[in-house]
Amino acid sequence: MDFLVTSPQDLRRRNWAPGSLDAVIVTGDAYVDHPSFGAALIGRLLEAQGYRVGVLSRPDPDDAEAFRMFGKPRLAFLVTAGALDSMVSSYTANKKPRSKDEFAPGGDRSLCMAADGTIGKSRLGRANARPDRATIVYANLCRQAYKGVPVILGGIEASLRRLAHYDYWSDTVRRSILLDAKADLLVYGMGERQILETMRRLSEAAEAGTEVELRGIRGTAWAVHASRLAEALGDRLADGAAVKAATLPEEHGGRAAGAEPGDPEAAVGATTLPAFETIQPDTEEGRRAFAASFKIQYRNTDPWSAKLLVEPCGDRFVVQEPAEFPLSRRELDDVYGLPFLHEWHPMYRQFGGVPALAEVKFSLVSSRGCFGGCSFCALSFHEGRVVTSRSIESVVKEAGKLTQIPDFKGYIHDVGGPTANFRAPACAKMAVRGACIDRRCLAPVPCPNLQVDHHEYRELLQRLRALPGIKRVFIRSGIRYDYLMLDRDQSFFSDLVQYHISGQLKVAPEHVSNRVLELMGKPPLESFDRFSEEYFHLNRKFGKNQYLIPYFISGHPGATLEDALELALYLKHFGFVPDQVQDFYPTPGTLSTAMWRARTNPLDGTPVYIPRGPKERALQRALLQFSKPENRTLVREALKILGRTDLIGNGKGCLVGKEVG
Ligand code: SF4
Repeated sequence: MDFLVTSPQDLRRRNWAPGSLDAVIVTGDAYVDHPSFGAALIGRLLEAQGYRVGVLSRPDPDDAEAFRMFGKPRLAFLVTAGALDSMVSSYTANKKPRSKDEFAPGGDRSLCMAADGTIGKSRLGRANARPDRATIVYANLCRQAYKGVPVILGGIEASLRRLAHYDYWSDTVRRSILLDAKADLLVYGMGERQILETMRRLSEAAEAGTEVELRGIRGTAWAVHASRLAEALGDRLADGAAVKAATLPEEHGGRAAGAEPGDPEAAVGATTLPAFETIQPDTEEGRRAFAASFKIQYRNTDPWSAKLLVEPCGDRFVVQEPAEFPLSRRELDDVYGLPFLHEWHPMYRQFGGVPALAEVKFSLVSSRGCFGGCSFCALSFHEGRVVTSRSIESVVKEAGKLTQIPDFKGYIHDVGGPTANFRAPACAKMAVRGACIDRRCLAPVPCPNLQVDHHEYRELLQRLRALPGIKRVFIRSGIRYDYLMLDRDQSFFSDLVQYHISGQLKVAPEHVSNRVLELMGKPPLESFDRFSEEYFHLNRKFGKNQYLIPYFISGHPGATLEDALELALYLKHFGFVPDQVQDFYPTPGTLSTAMWRARTNPLDGTPVYIPRGPKERALQRALLQFSKPENRTLVREALKILGRTDLIGNGKGCLVGKEVG
């Protein structure tokens, strides 16, 4: 098995003429043939269906010629920014440029691919060859390269920006990325089914010489001129009044008189979101409309219950089809059973490879989806809440393959998914009718219907431990400890402590203020306390001395300086030293980001305090890392603001020493 085609040289090696590819996948990442990299996964999937695919990885964003290196694709350009939103990839939470790009050759952010297939700086010598909002830039270059070739967007950046969204970096609400990219279709969520269906339709239309119809595919979004919405939606709009409501292009609000923003009756069969122009202004009214829009989107993420969403924007409408259903176990097994090489392409050897591979090379994905419901995570908007998993046989088979890789040292680094210890839907109802719209499964209190079961995960880990060539199997994906503590059978916890921790277990309580935790969708602090007590108890029982490393988020909506002090005092009391503190990062598609913009909780309209200014963010963060010498001045400042100068000094309970001199 060979790598997918990724340069003109590869094309020649296969004796494929330029212009003979069915699809060109454009990605902002270097090409790594591993299932954790979306471009490789979609490429292998299409290849298995008989399509000829090329991967155009990190093309020079200053040269349309680079987009012509494989010739004109027969069916489509499939465009993704890469594994991360390009803005997250390029900037820190404080909007500073990152020094490295783990998904670039050698981690060097300035490197990209030229039209002749060589790797070097961009034509204009950019410091960062991954352009900001890369999806839009790449889509425009695809069209410049070959007019008329359909451009299909996918990946996390497109998925979470599919409708109007708050963009932290410009501090504005931006319209759907579909409109800025002028793309033909946007695939959101995990895209396997959508891409196969899209390619099937494109292929059939190309063979028949007819125009392709890409509307009506679950898990996609498309745009249409206001005057053609009714025709495009056809019988999915039930009556004439509804059509009228949804087709008024007169004002940019695009709405019939009397139809309220977000009124589910405004378009029968579809739910009309507030118009982009009403949610964009950073005014009280604008923020209220933004919150209303987000709430509708939030309630329409589950494939079982989601409605068609229609968002007016200028003289256009963006239409979001209901989400695609998760892949079945068998389908997941098939996808992960594709012939991945688990390696970066040899063209990156001269740069030392692609750093991002190290994190996943000897890790196994065992599940998808998450019913954890953390407010700062976009998973419910992307993978969805319904958890599905691969069979034990499929994961064990892949582990067997890993043992054959020359640099495998006997250690599996991770076995998990978004949450390691979720392998099945949260309850019987979720398995057949999807997740509840207005209820969370775990927090603030666990749902009485929750079914807690670690048997299968435990068996999977036992099977992996027993494989020849495997010395240790670690778990590094997040463990949801509140779910773990709800299990009456604590054998998995014992196994975890005995076999699956590499010196330290990282968990994410995220905060200690129960008010903040509730806004975060996390369980109350008592849950973490019970877990850590039992963790250390089991360590003693098994003669282990393993650390517990808690992760915290600083500056989350709702978190005040008082809350940061509460957290600092908790850390001091228990002797935790959090070297991992993440400043809250308002990335697209999360409930927390919507709070940040709206200054309310969109789900219930209650006001939420936002620690917005850089100074307050710095003070909160410094308090959480009060023992770092470089934070002393800020910690003293925060304690003075809070009137807690009693915590400055050399006493046992003090957080920071007195100023010298
Ligand atoms: S019934 Fe409870 S556990 Fe099941 S999906 Fe709803 S909230 Fe989650």
